[in-house]
Amino acid sequence: MSRKILIAGNWKMNGLLEDGKALAGNVAAEVKKLGKPECEFLVCPPFTLLTTVKKALRGSKVAMGAQDCHTAEKGAHTGDISPVMLKDCGCSYVIIGHSERRADHHESNELICQKAEAAHKAGLKTVICIGETEAERDAQKTIDVCTRQIMGSVPDSATAADTVIAYEPVWAIGTGKTPTTADVEEVHAAIRKVLAKKLGKGNANKMRILYGGSMKPANAAALLSLPDVDGGLIGGASLKASDFMAIAASVCKK
Ligand code: PEP
Repeated sequence: MSRKILIAGNWKMNGLLEDGKALAGNVAAEVKKLGKPECEFLVCPPFTLLTTVKKALRGSKVAMGAQDCHTAEKGAHTGDISPVMLKDCGCSYVIIGHSERRADHHESNELICQKAEAAHKAGLKTVICIGETEAERDAQKTIDVCTRQIMGSVPDSATAADTVIAYEPVWAIGTGKTPTTADVEEVHAAIRKVLAKKLGKGNANKMRILYGGSMKPANAAALLSLPDVDGGLIGGASLKASDFMAIAASVCKK
């Protein structure tokens, strides 16, 4: 089953206008040099940079996504941004349920599922994040936690065309620690089995499952070559175009 590798950058709460313009411009220029790359590229800047980044990406094959959205199309939700607004300013993707939002904003699986449904309705693709904490891993609950998160936060209507799963062990995010490649493959294969149960085998076999958590040029080739790893969600290393592109270079041939 061939699934197109997705190399996605999560810029988190980083970058002022000039930084965003330069980073997006550099990524666009490097992707252009690849001609017809075998992978798909995505950058997810903070809301304040979306319009600037969209301009910097004009004419390139790099897609743009946001890092969160509200469940409603519009209305009295001060400080929030709707999926329709994201679509309107040029996003084609949105990250939903990142562990930092689950922790900082107490987002539940139910809310994440509603956000994903709203995003799909607005014509956005979602990158739905799941992953266990260090305590859950130590208690050997990784697969249970991921199963619960998939069952609760992925809409029943999700398809391989509108949904990407990102497996991000919370303890690996921004820490420099990563699971072994054997552990990553075991969890990704288990995730695909759960997806098959929930969404059917056809969707599960076509749905991309990204790995995220301290991916960098030095470990990317090993992680991205695993059979059930279909790309990366990259935080820190996506803030430097050369690192982001070095990660991509390990799998996206010219
Ligand atoms: C992330 O936040 O999605 C992430 C994977 O971060 P980092 O690559 O910095 O660990």
